[in-house]
Amino acid sequence: MNIKDLKASLLKEYSFQTELHAHTSPASSCSQVLPEEMAETYKKLGYDAVTIANHFVYEYQGLSKNEVIDRFFDNFERAEKRGKEIGIRVLLAAEIRFSENENDYLIYGVTRKMLEEIYDLLPYGIENFRKVYKMPDSVFLQAHPFREDMELVSPAILDGIEVFNMHPNHNSKVGIASVYAKEQNFSIITAGSDFHHPNRGHEGVSAIRTKHLPEDGFDIAKILRSGDYLLEVGRNNIIIP
Ligand SMILES: [Zn+2]
Ligand SMILES: [Zn+2]
Repeated sequence: MNIKDLKASLLKEYSFQTELHAHTSPASSCSQVLPEEMAETYKKLGYDAVTIANHFVYEYQGLSKNEVIDRFFDNFERAEKRGKEIGIRVLLAAEIRFSENENDYLIYGVTRKMLEEIYDLLPYGIENFRKVYKMPDSVFLQAHPFREDMELVSPAILDGIEVFNMHPNHNSKVGIASVYAKEQNFSIITAGSDFHHPNRGHEGVSAIRTKHLPEDGFDIAKILRSGDYLLEVGRNNIIIP
């Protein structure tokens, strides 16, 4: 089989396209994309699903625990509702930050109950978190580990890393991240647009491609663990992880 045919057959087999990393406003204070607009943007691009991975931070913008969690879920539910109306699936993830530093971690497979528990652990750092909090059905990744101000953590406490973070305002040093992922033998690597800002052309600049439409965030976790997926960076550039 020549490479063109091989690519065509891969694209056909892994036909479902999902954004793994997008932020809505106001749940992510850095985003200018309303939840409804998020669903509409990815529908227009032809994606099958978009994952809302809003920031989840202790005392975020001076809010109380309940306010942080309510705003987080209100944004997800608004995007999900709009998604159902126009025919695109909206999935839930969280990008959490502990009070110890600026590191971000992505969780695929998360519920309100889990985030209520996780919130109380944010002040105590990642080492403690990974020791005391078990998430057997979720996947826990360090987001863009080579971006400025990030600190590497012990690979033993990660399920993998987000190698291809395509945010245009940050240098996530994706080449170095890819080399590191190989050196550390991470079984899971991901790609995400980290979409926050309209009109800068960075919506849908990466995707995970799967054989079926992911049910929810836990299904994403399952697919990532299975290793049976492709990544797409830019348009039509396929990465076999
Ligand atoms: Zn952000
Ligand atoms: Zn992000």
